[in-house]
Amino acid sequence: MLPFIRSDLAQLTAYTPHPNSTDGKPIESVIDRLDTNESPFDLPSELKQKLALVYQETIETNRYPDGGHATLKEAIAEYVNESANLTQGAIAPNQISVGNGSDELIRSLLIATCLRGEGSILVANPTFSMYGILAQTLGIPVVTVGRTSEFEIDSVAAQTAIETTRTPPIRVVFVVHPNSPTGNALTTAEIAWLRSLPQDILVVIDEAYFEFSQTSVVGELSQKPNWVVLRTFSKAFRLAALRVGYAIASPEITTVLEKVRLPYNLPSFSQAAAILALQQRHLLLQLIALICEERTKLTQALTQYSVLKVNESAANFIYIQTSHQAQHSELLPKLAQQLRCSGTIIRSLNGGLRITVGSPAENLRTLERLQVAFVKWNER
Ligand SMILES: *Cc1c(COP(=O)(O)O)cnc(C)c1O
Repeated sequence: MLPFIRSDLAQLTAYTPHPNSTDGKPIESVIDRLDTNESPFDLPSELKQKLALVYQETIETNRYPDGGHATLKEAIAEYVNESANLTQGAIAPNQISVGNGSDELIRSLLIATCLRGEGSILVANPTFSMYGILAQTLGIPVVTVGRTSEFEIDSVAAQTAIETTRTPPIRVVFVVHPNSPTGNALTTAEIAWLRSLPQDILVVIDEAYFEFSQTSVVGELSQKPNWVVLRTFSKAFRLAALRVGYAIASPEITTVLEKVRLPYNLPSFSQAAAILALQQRHLLLQLIALICEERTKLTQALTQYSVLKVNESAANFIYIQTSHQAQHSELLPKLAQQLRCSGTIIRSLNGGLRITVGSPAENLRTLERLQVAFVKWNER
């Protein structure tokens, strides 16, 4: 370890988006990347052309981007209000903060709340790993609790952790709605528990998959000065390459987020793309219905394998486990490896497998390749 580097960083490893990419190189030429929950559909080419024109004609590359994201924030606020049907308590542009992906906003929230030993965070595993990873890089303690077999947060353990953690106290609770990797939306009881949390705890509700689930707590934000909703353009809006996420919260919270971020965190091109995507949202979001239909078909097809426990999902991915964990501990890793060899990349997480819902052709290939993987498993 370099002598000038913080000692706690020695235990950390860099985030790898495709962690299993070294074991079992794909042999097929068609690679289906179903491990990171993006949309299977690129931006339509007419929109790419429009965007290229915007780039040509309006972006001066020698100039810094709009560091206040004014136009983008207005467009986001309008979309949020429309999609939540908010007439009362509508979200204003000053209640939006924009990040270089919602990952950046997660980091800004951590910087604004827990640094200097002032706070710990609470997460319920399995959940999105980035909260814990980013907290660790900042030296912020991460308190974890578990979930029930239906993936509801163990609220008794969570409540106890909140009441007893003192070194330092829990300042932020992170939840995903619907959760990744398990696909379940927050239940009424979980939302009630979040409502019951004291005002000195920030509640971050990450709605990265909102467009698929159509479940949101945005309507409650006006009553909840300690809640933040995170959203992203990386999933339903098909802009993962351009890294745009946003937070929705009270102006007091967004003001702080603006203080701690880098001044030009979002390139002009990314801002232009997000604005165009919002203008064209009715076209872009048309395919959500198709992805949800595909999710249903894929769920049903997977359910045919009695050895798999297939979890209902409100998002664009499906989390599967084995129905008899003890007897088949090797099954899921073998299936994932075999799928990878045949060209379908999925994610192994917390003892289960997460499969992104792809295009109809990709999903057919997933099922065919899985069939082959099961034949191999049975021949072993
Ligand atoms: C994909 C995802 C995000 C999006 O991250 P970006 O940095 O905006 O690409 C955020 N939260 C969760 C839970 C996700 O799954």
